Amino acid sequence: MKEGWEAIIGMEIHAQLATETKIFCACAANFGDEPNANTCPVCLGLPGALPVLNEKVVELGAKAALSLGLNVNETSIFARKNYFYPDLPKGYQISQYDKPFSSNGELTIMTAERDEQGRAGDWKPLTIRIERMHLEEDAGKNIHEGLPEVERFSYIDLNRAGTPLGEIVTAPDFRSSWQAYDYVNHVRRVLQWVGASDADMEKGNLRCEANVSVRRIGEEKFRNKVELKNLNSVRFMQKAIEFEIERQIAAHEAGEPVNQETRLWDEKNNQTRIMRSKEDAHDYRYFPEPDLQPLTVSKQFIEQVKADMPELPDAMHDRFVEEYELSYNDASQLVSDKDLAAFYEATAQASNNPRVSANFILSELLRELNNADKTAKDSPVSAENLAELIKTLDAGKINNNQAKEVLTEMFGNGKSADEVIREKGFEQISDRSTIEKIIDEIVEKNQNQVVAYRGGNEKLFGFFVGQTMKASGGKANPKVVNEILKEKLS
Ligand code: ZN
Ligand code: MN
Repeated sequence: MKEGWEAIIGMEIHAQLATETKIFCACAANFGDEPNANTCPVCLGLPGALPVLNEKVVELGAKAALSLGLNVNETSIFARKNYFYPDLPKGYQISQYDKPFSSNGELTIMTAERDEQGRAGDWKPLTIRIERMHLEEDAGKNIHEGLPEVERFSYIDLNRAGTPLGEIVTAPDFRSSWQAYDYVNHVRRVLQWVGASDADMEKGNLRCEANVSVRRIGEEKFRNKVELKNLNSVRFMQKAIEFEIERQIAAHEAGEPVNQETRLWDEKNNQTRIMRSKEDAHDYRYFPEPDLQPLTVSKQFIEQVKADMPELPDAMHDRFVEEYELSYNDASQLVSDKDLAAFYEATAQASNNPRVSANFILSELLRELNNADKTAKDSPVSAENLAELIKTLDAGKINNNQAKEVLTEMFGNGKSADEVIREKGFEQISDRSTIEKIIDEIVEKNQNQVVAYRGGNEKLFGFFVGQTMKASGGKANPKVVNEILKEKLS
């Protein structure tokens, strides 16, 4: 960012809560089905139809709120947000306004700036305020087909109308595009982790908007802000924010106006462009929804939701560092995915070697999984089998390179470590008399080198180790080989 300026960024995230049915009716919340298959008088907004709140929305909403450090309010009120749009058959959206489901949150995330190559600098904690997460229904979707000015068709699919959303709004606490990027990723992972949302941006069940303005460092007042919408990925969002920061600073410095408006990310031209100006801003005329009771959530209900919540990724990360003595980065990688974290913990416990378990999973197993386009959840090698392999390695029956080869084989054919080791004949030779016999022959055959070694050429020790390993087909236990060689050559 240009010297002397700072960016002020606030984030809004709409996350679809992962219920089977919609928020106010029993229609399936399956957006991809045959258009308008999942509709009924309630979500079509037919006269006289009455909404009934889906209890599962409250449970998942509470999980989402608690995992983001928000307080769930004892009473919240649904309100009508009035506007006209073809995908909104009722003419209003049922949302929440002045009494939201949850509010006053504080969330600490880890964040780092990235250099030109995308490499992260130091990871530092950043605490941001989350103002609220309210519950609301989604609208339907307009679909346009055909060629402009030739033949155009517009359709309305109301399968999405009435699917439940949590709208998460932060205070303007971000100062860079990468902070916003790390925040969205944090929210995505935590919502998936607790099962509140699939949080898949590509499928549109997590959508984010950013409010961006800039000011000179030391200024207290906010300048005009721009709302960035239709951001299809976290990376595009980051790029859009970055572009917008530079665009606004340049405009202010040139004495040109920065208008309060909504802008889109233009992927092709790598820039933001205007969608609508503030003059088109809606007055939504919110008022309490008369067809729904105030929502009251008991303390007992919240306690139950808390009790059912899994350990959150950040807590698990710190525990891995503490309990298993992992590095910060290794622990971060392991908790990047809930299934991977569970796989690691099962392996560490069954093998009784947390350190080597982490190494094997992060280097060998993840590589195999990536190559096979799989995740920890569908790994052909179970945690138990991997633990068995690590125990065999620890016992000195095979060496590290052999263990890696065995794992690749296990991954390919699903066999146990013992089976593969037997088939490959990897059983290590640790028997002293067998190794002694091999070494005696080598010493016999290489008298010149023996004399040179004894005369002070210590480098030749490696030569004898190499000859012994070669003669044993790589199976001799290196530790035993070293011991015997030292005896014989001294
Ligand atoms: Zn319905
Ligand atoms: Mn909304």
